[in-house]
Amino acid sequence: MRSVKVEDVLRGGYEGERVLLRGWVYRRRKTGGVAFVVLRDSSGILQCVAERERGEVYDIAKKVRIESSVEVCGTVRREDKAPGGYEVLLDDIRVVHMAEAFPINRYKSEEYLLDNRHLWLRSREMTAVMKIRSTVFGAIHEFFRENGYYEVQAPMFVGSAVEGGSTLFEVPYFDKKAYLTQSAQFYLEAFIYSLEKVYTVAPSFRAEKSRTRRHLTEFWHAEAEVAWYGNEDMMKDEELLMEHIVRRVLAERKSELEYLGRDLDRLRAVEAPFERMRYERLIEMARDIGVEISYGDDLGADEERAITKEFEKPVFVTHYPSETKPFYHRPDPENPSVVLCHDLLAPEGYGEIIGGGERIWKLDVLLQRIRSYGLNPDDYSMYIDLRRYGSVPHAGFGLGVDRAVMWIAGLDHINKAIAFPRTIRRLRP
Ligand code: ATP
Ligand code: MG
Repeated sequence: MRSVKVEDVLRGGYEGERVLLRGWVYRRRKTGGVAFVVLRDSSGILQCVAERERGEVYDIAKKVRIESSVEVCGTVRREDKAPGGYEVLLDDIRVVHMAEAFPINRYKSEEYLLDNRHLWLRSREMTAVMKIRSTVFGAIHEFFRENGYYEVQAPMFVGSAVEGGSTLFEVPYFDKKAYLTQSAQFYLEAFIYSLEKVYTVAPSFRAEKSRTRRHLTEFWHAEAEVAWYGNEDMMKDEELLMEHIVRRVLAERKSELEYLGRDLDRLRAVEAPFERMRYERLIEMARDIGVEISYGDDLGADEERAITKEFEKPVFVTHYPSETKPFYHRPDPENPSVVLCHDLLAPEGYGEIIGGGERIWKLDVLLQRIRSYGLNPDDYSMYIDLRRYGSVPHAGFGLGVDRAVMWIAGLDHINKAIAFPRTIRRLRP
């Protein structure tokens, strides 16, 4: 007999038929002469019933421990009181593995659940998040491939910084020192001279010492780089990308979003185009709502939370003062004290999910910027070299995928958006 999935039973396809199901014991209880086993598989949960007259089946169902793996057979029938409206009247149950007492039973602290993430991963909450996350990754690849981008890969071991030295992870590398990559950007820039439009989805590593709700030390980064693109061209692709991701999740993961209590109307409002707001205007707006910040300050997590609570949709913030951004951003020819960059801030308090912009493409400007930032040109020899042979205007961006998942799923901490989060205090499990 072929096994069926819980979701197929709940769709009503097997009413009155005998089926075989495989899964895990999610709940178990006994009332009067009946034992209930709620079975969980990757697709959902389903109530199974064993009556006392069934003898051995009843005895097993009565005693099987939570999270044991089982195979059950029985007949599907409608039952309004069962979750999902169907149940299975058991005629057979086989315990594949009797679980030990499961360590997560009653209420447990967030810290305990993180310590036991390998087990908490089975919870309905984490299952819903992991399915949403899978859809988000799929949608990212889909968007890029449908829009003429080539997927490429950059190294994880690198010789110098992209985002500044303070968040570099140093690792021994034979008799030298290497670092874990903070961003694939510089390598993606090398690809545009042949492939023009490229992207990669890979981990980035940053030794973030500040403990915020939106920083991991290892996060998933979807990065793109495009020849002949300016700041505005790049933002246009990004808003379509975000719209595509959100639509895909709404189409495929509605029940998971509902399970997590997400307000779907907030997501339905995520339609391109998004507003473009200059940094200068953002600072004014922030001050109007009482945020203590002045022109030239970088926006921290708290400021972004306060400001983006006011937003209905994601907003692009452009034209940051150059000293708030890394050296490679192209100065605005109309006002060289600001750069042609953008951050995409997610609404509802979530804040930055994308950072991007136009890159400096002229050799002399780049060299001058590297020096004025007090950096050593020798550390950037590849990057500089790319401006010597047929350099072109170009732009790129990086999307924090875990942050996007956090926002779309409506989670209160980034460590709920990834299966095995890495932070300053957490390297296990
Ligand atoms: P922040 O100011 O929030 O620390 P950043 O400006 O340093 O971020 P970028 O260098 O612009 O980040 O990286 C591009 C994107 O990668 C960010 O918009 C964000 O979504 C994501 N990202 C950056 N650092 C982290 C991190 N430590 N954990 C999770 N995502 C991150
Ligand atoms: Mg940024």
